[in-house]
Amino acid sequence: MQLPPSKLPGLETTIFAVMSGLAIKHNALNLSQGYPNFPSDPVLMDLIYEAMKTGKNQYAHMLGIPELRRAISRKFELLYNTTYNPDNEITVTAGATQAIYTALTAVIRPGDEVIVFRPAYDCYVPTVELNGGKAISVQLGPPDYKIDWEEVRSLVNSRTRMIMINTPHNPSGTVLDRADLLSLQEIVNGTDIMILSDEVYEHIIFDDEQHQSVCRFPDLRSRSFITASFGKTFHNTGWKIGYCCAPKDLMEEFVKVHQFNVFSVNHPMQVGIAKYLENEDHYLKLGEFYQKKRDLFLSLMQESRFKMKPSKGTYFQAADYSQISTEGDMDFTRRMTIEHGVASIPISAFNLDKKDNHMIRFCFAKTDDTLKRAAEILCRL
Ligand code: PMP
Ligand code: GLN
Repeated sequence: MQLPPSKLPGLETTIFAVMSGLAIKHNALNLSQGYPNFPSDPVLMDLIYEAMKTGKNQYAHMLGIPELRRAISRKFELLYNTTYNPDNEITVTAGATQAIYTALTAVIRPGDEVIVFRPAYDCYVPTVELNGGKAISVQLGPPDYKIDWEEVRSLVNSRTRMIMINTPHNPSGTVLDRADLLSLQEIVNGTDIMILSDEVYEHIIFDDEQHQSVCRFPDLRSRSFITASFGKTFHNTGWKIGYCCAPKDLMEEFVKVHQFNVFSVNHPMQVGIAKYLENEDHYLKLGEFYQKKRDLFLSLMQESRFKMKPSKGTYFQAADYSQISTEGDMDFTRRMTIEHGVASIPISAFNLDKKDNHMIRFCFAKTDDTLKRAAEILCRL
């Protein structure tokens, strides 16, 4: 049998699987793939076990259980003073990855252009392409990864269907400010361009910065899908549970795809998370928690030859290693894992044409002990 041509020719295995695989093989400290190496709150785990024991084990509501949708809606009210109707503007998803896939599949048609900022989280461009769309990349650069909105404006044309943003930003650890969002709003004003705003790190923001959700800006809100992940918020990336919020007309299209993509998301987790969200501290304190880890990591690394601008959000710290080596970042991170026992992520993996700026990404969602042991090694490089 002759296979048809690949729908994603040339696509390589995700860098996260590659680097975590290498870390395991060489028994390295894994500061590569973004996940905590400490346990989730036992209170949350008990709530989930309780839900299982009390029979919440069959298919959940297609949109997510009403209690969880209502809890998400309350969170928007509390944080951003806006409401999403839990009946028809919120859908619980199998993580943000599914939310992104479903949103793009719902609205992107062959020939549509989608503006993406590079470095871009690795599922964005392949998902655009799977739907026949064309990713139009705007390459950002270290150390600030600032967006030139005039460049964005020059790329907009009648084929532009969507602009994708991500703040706080993986992998750079930068955030968009109010002026950025206002520039975006101005560019899309009077057009039919939609926005996908990936806000999975909304609660992990530092130094008293405010997260600039698109929902704070009426003319962005009305055209935006917001994607989010409880994996980031509650230290359990393996549970793969998140959500998408959008105005009713956009959500209607989203749900048409969602129902045949996953139909519904695992039930006991939803029951547990809905209850856990009743205590606002469980997400309001997250920024403070990770700021301590960022500050510990930065202070431990003070004597190293890595150049780092403090991350403003996410649990990632970008680092310039050009004082240590002239190698490409793929080779450098491989060698650091194999020879020195610390794994990280080469940022070129997320860049247009794998542009290499000698930048790598460390994940600091790790125990203090892991951070100390890693920094000790990194300071010797
Ligand atoms: N977007 C960004 C920017 C991410 O960093 C991640 C994963 N860490 C996701 C989406 C996917 O989230 P999930 O694991 O909930 O699918
Ligand atoms: N989002 C995580 C990261 O940026 C990885 C998620 C994955 O492996 N798909 O490291």
